[in-house]
Amino acid sequence: MSTIAENIAKVGVRIREAAQASQRDCATVGLLAVSKTKPAAAIRQAFAAGVRDFGENYLQEALEKQRELGDLPLIWHFIGPIQSNKTKAIAEHFAWVHSVDRLKIAQRLSDQRPAHLPALNICLQVNVSGEPSKSGCNPDELPALAQAVTQLPNIRLRGLMTIPEPTDDLACQHAAFARLRELQDGLGLSLDSLSMGMSHDLEAAIAEGATWVRIGTALFGAREYSHN
Ligand SMILES: *Cc1c(COP(=O)(O)O)cnc(C)c1O
Repeated sequence: MSTIAENIAKVGVRIREAAQASQRDCATVGLLAVSKTKPAAAIRQAFAAGVRDFGENYLQEALEKQRELGDLPLIWHFIGPIQSNKTKAIAEHFAWVHSVDRLKIAQRLSDQRPAHLPALNICLQVNVSGEPSKSGCNPDELPALAQAVTQLPNIRLRGLMTIPEPTDDLACQHAAFARLRELQDGLGLSLDSLSMGMSHDLEAAIAEGATWVRIGTALFGAREYSHN
């Protein structure tokens, strides 16, 4: 079994090679380590190997780890589905939220962002594959949502996020990520972030312009349990 440090090095090589293949500077692709279901000790190891940004999907689990890791200068990203009753704690304890898919949630995050913190960085999650059960707004709802979100005072709209239907077909991977980039370009706003690509499809995502790849399994190994 490889260690977390070895996995981070391997993912770093994948990111650099993918960036190089599409003439991108690899410094424009951020590694977001998805630590859901993994213990604080795993995050400590990733930190020691140079990772600073961590993504969590479940609020209570994230808050517990944040308490245990309060001595480290970590940057926390919330990437899971958001219920209204969770927005206050999310606004208080995260620097980024990648999974905003409706205005009500964005309004609550803005209202509840503490005054002493900088604006909360937001990505709007878009359902590009059109699966009915998936979270994410529909592409046709996106322009109005994005416009409304830019008016909110305490959040900063940075870009879009998607979780496409999993597929091993490279052409399908590219098509989904290209769609997200085209949707972002079509908004005509000055956005700098595209949160797309996971362990199995980060190469396609980087080729299509990802600025955050969200990587769990390839860094921390398979997840033994899940909350849902
Ligand atoms: C779990 C999760 C990931 C990481 O997926 P891996 O396939 O383990 O890399 C990325 N993004 C989101 C939103 C997730 O929930």
